[in-house]
Amino acid sequence: MDRRAFGDEESEVEQLVLPLRHSGDDLTDYFKRATGKIISLTVTDNSVSMVSVRRKGNLVSLRLHRMFLEAGIDILNEIAEFIKSPKKRTPLLRKFVRQNSNRFLKTMPRKARLRTQGNHYDLQTIYDSINRDYFGGGVSCSITWAVRSPGYAVKKRTLGSYSSQTNTIRITPLLDKRTIPRCFIEFVVYHEMLHADMDTQERKGRRLVHSQEFRRREKLFKQYEKAITWERGRRF
Ligand SMILES: [Zn+2]
Repeated sequence: MDRRAFGDEESEVEQLVLPLRHSGDDLTDYFKRATGKIISLTVTDNSVSMVSVRRKGNLVSLRLHRMFLEAGIDILNEIAEFIKSPKKRTPLLRKFVRQNSNRFLKTMPRKARLRTQGNHYDLQTIYDSINRDYFGGGVSCSITWAVRSPGYAVKKRTLGSYSSQTNTIRITPLLDKRTIPRCFIEFVVYHEMLHADMDTQERKGRRLVHSQEFRRREKLFKQYEKAITWERGRRF
């Protein structure tokens, strides 16, 4: 990207007449300079989560909707500040998303309806506490009860799924019962959040992506043994 696009004063006039369009590399360079961190940027078509920041030491995994390729310096600045300090508020960013989502909606898959409150369990509550206890609040994805489809197979791998395309966790409503122990549904949510954190995708009916590191972290779940033991004798 032309350095001027990021707002030296003398370029302000040019910004008004030139279409402002950055490449992914431009944005990576910009966020590197603005934050002093190592930036791994993915530009997405994700219509559920427009911005997602994952921090690990000096390494930042940043996912931005492609609308941000056209964002002005004030918006990018706000994102940079947010990368440096997650507590920073982001009013400009929110306004930008509101203003642009209509324009992008036509070419995007329809925004998925998220439903977290079930009859017995609230997924958002479970997600929030696991995020706090195990990830230091570092996971940012959506979670919802899955819509049950005909012929839905009751297998371990269909209890939950994580789509990196939409950055969304889906949990089968079969777990939304008082006969399901809390530690077990928490374990399923934790498992899917690990996928979100490690950014591997699990597809129904395909080979599972569970690396050694994944399995190691999975065992960090405090009630791992209890959940696994219950699962062996599970009745849904
Ligand atoms: Zn998995």
